[in-house]
Amino acid sequence: ATGAVLLSLAACSSDSGSTGGGDAAEGGTECNVGISMPTRSLERWINDGEQLQKALKDADCTVDLQYADNKTDQQISQIQNQIAGGAKILVIAAIDGEVLAPVLEEAKKQDATVIAYDRLINGTENVDYYATFDNYKVGQLQGEFIAEQLDLASGAGPFNLEPFAGSPDDNNAKFFFSGAWDVLLPYVEKGQLVVPSGKAPKSNDEWASIGIQGWASDKAQSEMDNRLSSFYTGDEKVDVVLSPNDSLAIGIIASLRSAGYAPGEDYPIISGQDADKANVKAILDGEQSMTVWKDTRTLGDRVFTMIESIVAGDEVEVNDEETYDNGEKVVPSFLLDPEVVVKDDVQSKLVDSGFVKAGDVGL
Ligand code: BGC
Repeated sequence: ATGAVLLSLAACSSDSGSTGGGDAAEGGTECNVGISMPTRSLERWINDGEQLQKALKDADCTVDLQYADNKTDQQISQIQNQIAGGAKILVIAAIDGEVLAPVLEEAKKQDATVIAYDRLINGTENVDYYATFDNYKVGQLQGEFIAEQLDLASGAGPFNLEPFAGSPDDNNAKFFFSGAWDVLLPYVEKGQLVVPSGKAPKSNDEWASIGIQGWASDKAQSEMDNRLSSFYTGDEKVDVVLSPNDSLAIGIIASLRSAGYAPGEDYPIISGQDADKANVKAILDGEQSMTVWKDTRTLGDRVFTMIESIVAGDEVEVNDEETYDNGEKVVPSFLLDPEVVVKDDVQSKLVDSGFVKAGDVGL
């Protein structure tokens, strides 16, 4: 039904032609959408892009979907092409949140509306809306999971913790880390959590010192290899790894495996995020403890709804107007709710909802 509404709106606004006068919000906007996604190397972005593209095409919008291979220059030139191609709405999951201001200046010249998708774009007035999951809460769920599993509230410990953080150029990464560290740092300070590698930021602001560039699994793996070989000599064992997402968890798991760790009693707690297939398998196999699931279909639906409103010239619904300050403005945001998935939830949450197929995760 939403598709049908959008269809008629798209038809209606193209009849009336371009307003050219800067008051596009009143007159509605042509449904010509450029979608810019960071990379095909992570499953979630493929799903994100393809799902939104399909919904928009079904609603008769013009859509251009591009993936930038995690290369900033490529993303900028893809967006430039979309602007040149007449895009009136841009949906962008930025690779580097700091470098898109100049290209968004060009977008504004043709009155394009810009939606930051999943990751905020910083340092520019020219981002109109932000749709994402509550990124701080993602980290908080990871931290709380770890605290509960280790019974830290009742004074248990000491446990050996190795914390990791996401890509320093991704605005989300500091939110993930802050959410987790606000829970865990007090236990580090009390000595219930010990970080043998010394890679324990003293405050949230220092998170980038343990960030893994590009969210790369292989970089996380070699970082974990280094920590294990330098600081876990003798009988020392890792009890818990704070991994901000699934791609890092994959590398960390591989490293632990090659150092001789195997699922069972003494296997460390490992967190994650995204519910990627490989990680859901790892959860079922006991190699990863949890993932924070962000049902990307709801994010796609939310952005579709935003686009519908923009096309109709209606007000865009948001639910947060204070958290995401990009240095130039507080960007009106719609935050969705992430949730924890553990082994016992895989069937009921992920399979039954159709997010993953049982056969794809070996169920
Ligand atoms: C996303 C995560 C994802 C990570 C790596 C973050 O911005 O929010 O879902 O795991 O990027 O692609």
